[in-house]
Amino acid sequence: MYNVTLIPGDGIGPSISESTQRIIASTGIQISWDVQEAGINAIEKYKDPLPQQVIDSISRNKIALKGPLTTPVGTGFRSINVALRKEFDLFINLRPAKSFIGVKATFKDVDLIMFRENTEEFYAGIEHYIDAKKSAAETIGVVTRAGCERIVRAAFEYSRKHGRKQVTIVHKANILKYTGGLFLEVGRKVAQEFPEIQCNDKIIDNMAMQLVLNPHQFDVIVTTNLFGDILSDLCSGLVGGLGLAPGANIGYDAALFEAVHGSAPDIAGQNLANPCAMALAGAMMLDYLGEIEASNKIQRAIADVIMEGVYVTRDLNPEKHVGTIEMTDAIVKTIEKM
Ligand code: NAD
Repeated sequence: MYNVTLIPGDGIGPSISESTQRIIASTGIQISWDVQEAGINAIEKYKDPLPQQVIDSISRNKIALKGPLTTPVGTGFRSINVALRKEFDLFINLRPAKSFIGVKATFKDVDLIMFRENTEEFYAGIEHYIDAKKSAAETIGVVTRAGCERIVRAAFEYSRKHGRKQVTIVHKANILKYTGGLFLEVGRKVAQEFPEIQCNDKIIDNMAMQLVLNPHQFDVIVTTNLFGDILSDLCSGLVGGLGLAPGANIGYDAALFEAVHGSAPDIAGQNLANPCAMALAGAMMLDYLGEIEASNKIQRAIADVIMEGVYVTRDLNPEKHVGTIEMTDAIVKTIEKM
């Protein structure tokens, strides 16, 4: 039995969270869910988008599954994602991009893993206008040796554990000679400790083009925060968009798993949401917990249901589709037959 914090979120969050709980339960893994409210729901109840009890729950359980949260535009509401990353020093943003047979996409058989550094550089929030007239603005991107080392090491350790063959370090060290240069220097040094894994490096602009021309030449990718932000969405696009994209934010002491997409207010409450991205985040969580077989079952069942193409949500087949609940039923039945 595992204790896991569940933040169902808002919009489509509660319905895909429920799907994910059912799908995980069908593998036989027992989880005691500590359900917590954050975001808009928490403001209504507790006047705080990130109440202390959410932090306390994750501190206790060390592991969380999160549904999407609406971030209102133009108010002072801080991003819950950024706040949680900071609070628990979740320095790894892990985003797989994998093809599913039956999903329209530019490429087949893509299987990429992106390691994005999640705490440093231009996302650290060191920015300001240089004068009262706002005539110019400045953002400072600090990259530390320790920060580079831990993200690159995480990428190589993951590759070793999962039998991956190659890690590509992505940077802009030709122009950003200090921040980019440090990341590349540290990356190459860490790579020497993993001689069985090939290591190469690419400059970010060339990398973007190479991914679009032939993603099959890559395996695991590791990069700094801003480049990782952009490239991981590019990789999702290669396999058919965000609807099937899970993600994880991982630190030394805690990990938080979620779908990459948002709260989709346009389809909330209509039984239209595709439950797969969040269920795949659930599978990543099981993998992290060492429940490899259960994780593989969920991934295989989702792949089978999508390939069969009968019990799929509207985003996967606008002409002939079922609802969130019915697609979840099909995934659960497939797992139960395994
Ligand atoms: P979105 O990802 O919510 O929706 C974009 C489009 O994709 C919409 O048409 C939506 O209907 C569709 N879509 C998304 N998920 C789907 C699913 N599972 N099944 C079927 N269709 C799906 O992006 P948005 O509209 O830009 O953002 C809505 C809200 O979500 C915003 O407040 C934003 O800040 C928030 N958001 C939260 C997270 C998070 O909590 N991790 C991530 C991204 C956006």
